[in-house]
Amino acid sequence: MKVLIVGGGIAGLTLAYWMNQNGNEVQVIEKAPELRTEGYMLDFFGPGYDVAEKMGILDSLQRIHYPISALKFLNRKGKHKFELPYPSLRHLFNGRHFNFLRGDLEQVLYELVRERVDFRFGVTTEDIQQDDEQVHVTLSDGSREAADIVVGADGVRSQVRSLMFGDHHNYIKHLGYYTAAYIIHNSTMENQLSNAFYSLSSPGLQASVYPIRGDRSATFFLYKASKKEEHLSGKEAKDELENQFKHMGWIVPELLDKADEASDFYFDEVSQVVMPRWSKGRVVLVGDSCQAVSLMAGQGASLAMTGAYVLARCLHENKDVKQALDKYEDDLKPQIMKTQASGRRFAHYFLPDTRLRIFIRDLTMRISVLPVIRRFINMNRARIPK
Ligand SMILES: Cc1cc2nc3c(=O)[nH]c(=O)nc-3n(C[C@H](O)[C@H](O)[C@H](O)COP(=O)(O)OP(=O)(O)OC[C@H]3O[C@@H](n4cnc5c(N)ncnc54)[C@H](O)[C@@H]3O)c2cc1C
Repeated sequence: MKVLIVGGGIAGLTLAYWMNQNGNEVQVIEKAPELRTEGYMLDFFGPGYDVAEKMGILDSLQRIHYPISALKFLNRKGKHKFELPYPSLRHLFNGRHFNFLRGDLEQVLYELVRERVDFRFGVTTEDIQQDDEQVHVTLSDGSREAADIVVGADGVRSQVRSLMFGDHHNYIKHLGYYTAAYIIHNSTMENQLSNAFYSLSSPGLQASVYPIRGDRSATFFLYKASKKEEHLSGKEAKDELENQFKHMGWIVPELLDKADEASDFYFDEVSQVVMPRWSKGRVVLVGDSCQAVSLMAGQGASLAMTGAYVLARCLHENKDVKQALDKYEDDLKPQIMKTQASGRRFAHYFLPDTRLRIFIRDLTMRISVLPVIRRFINMNRARIPK
């Protein structure tokens, strides 16, 4: 069977691996000119960890892992409130937890398949047509490809989804928050940071920074705001971020100033993707394009790998494509819906919007890592659906 995967991110690369393992011909179409290298820090645990174990890449993930010493919580002026040692937090996940940059994970996955899969960078899909036997895709460079199955692994704003299922607005659900993330080169101030994840909170705002390899630091901003009319990018997005966070103290103004130098400035609304169906004929979606749970649920990358694994398994075990795609959805969707619901519930806790809620969040975090309490907590219960 020939499979054409649109999107060479976490879902697309994982799917490429498993479809190739199962004896299929695989082609990946990626719109970026080359593999993305940076991105933001991922908390990685849950069923995606189990998929990574099946792929034999836990050693590689250990190598890209950032063994931070602690999470340090500061008030809006940068005054130290409390800290949680990272080993105690990892304990909540039975030790099966990593922190790494999204780009580093993609690099590990790419290395597994680069020799065995046909990659085409710098192109995207313009048109998709299908009949009972095949799918015909016209690419942005004018070339045409035919495949037995086409998979949209092209993220929250999936082009494959738009072409097959219609407008984004029908599927992207804004959760009431915006986020930004970018990587900066350290100057004197950031060089004084210890090997920890620093997080400043004030009601409805969170600014974080953590040192990463190569004399750099990664930033992460989150704030509460209703949906804007337009999708902001470039200078408009940077101005918006500056307006939201300029009143915070410590090194936050300096981090904001450096947004202009960042090569990989990310800014977007925090959203989930909810769809009644994930496939149409021989075209199917995987990862954030159909199942984004949002950073509030904190397992998007893990579930993208899980989705790819389950899709490949269903296609391998069911020779009838329709049955395979129905089974994929039946197996995975309940877990995605559950995680999305908990992400929506958890949002107030993740980003408290009053001083009282910040106080309660801080208190419960401090209690949860106490040795007497933490042995009753298992944050790593979700498994790959059978
Ligand atoms: C700030 C932030 C923090 C996060 N933190 C966490 C976390 O701690 N833990 C966690 O598990 N998850 C986290 N996530 C979520 C996680 O990053 C996503 O769930 C995951 O990246 C989804 O992978 P994906 O491959 O489905 O989509 P994406 O990562 O979006 O990859 C899509 C790929 O498709 C390509 N593409 C897009 N459009 C086209 C097109 N038209 N044609 C061809 N190619 C195309 C893109 O260039 C990209 O390579 C976070 C997300 C954000 C934004």
